[in-house]
Amino acid sequence: MTRTLQLTLALLKPDVAGRPHIVEEIRRIVLNDGFFFVRSKHLYLPRSKAEEFYKEHEGRFFHNRLVSFMSSGHLWSHILARDDAIGAWRRLMGPTKVFQTMHHHPETIRGRYGLTDTRNATHGSDSEETAKREISFFFPEFDVDEWYKKEEVYFRQGSVKYCEENFVHKPSCNETSEFSKV
Ligand code: GDP
Ligand code: MG
Repeated sequence: MTRTLQLTLALLKPDVAGRPHIVEEIRRIVLNDGFFFVRSKHLYLPRSKAEEFYKEHEGRFFHNRLVSFMSSGHLWSHILARDDAIGAWRRLMGPTKVFQTMHHHPETIRGRYGLTDTRNATHGSDSEETAKREISFFFPEFDVDEWYKKEEVYFRQGSVKYCEENFVHKPSCNETSEFSKV
């Protein structure tokens, strides 16, 4: 029996998003771990939006440098799908604090590419509820329930291809390719 796929939000933060060869390496790591790229977007997050995104950390000592950093350059945001996507992506990223992670988990994305505890390469949702909120924050046009109704089956059955041009999996990489209604 196949399990339903789970969705998560992944961000490549400005420290890595501005370095194309590292973006490429991280994408390879993600693909090799069995993830699908459901949607991808390259964007700039203004400071006010960064503050909204990290509202839960308001008042923490690192909050100001975190939101400054997040709005210091462009980001890549991705909706990823996989069995246990939330946990799997957080395991690939490694623990939050890079100065420890680079010693204790050097094989992880943060261990390899993170620069400091603030500039730690990537973000991943930490629960299903957070994932849903964070997906609609970055992809307001994306409807999670519609995706489960119309697209999830293509991914679960492996009837999708990775399209390098726009970093998404689709039934085929023709420009006109769409998920037809099931
Ligand atoms: P995450 O879910 O692993 O990203 O970690 P958190 O949700 O706890 O924190 C959000 C982000 O704030 C982290 O990814 C870091 O960029 C930053 N951050 C968290 N803890 C610290 C810290 O102790 N020091 C600094 N400088 N930044 C931190
Ligand atoms: Mg977090």
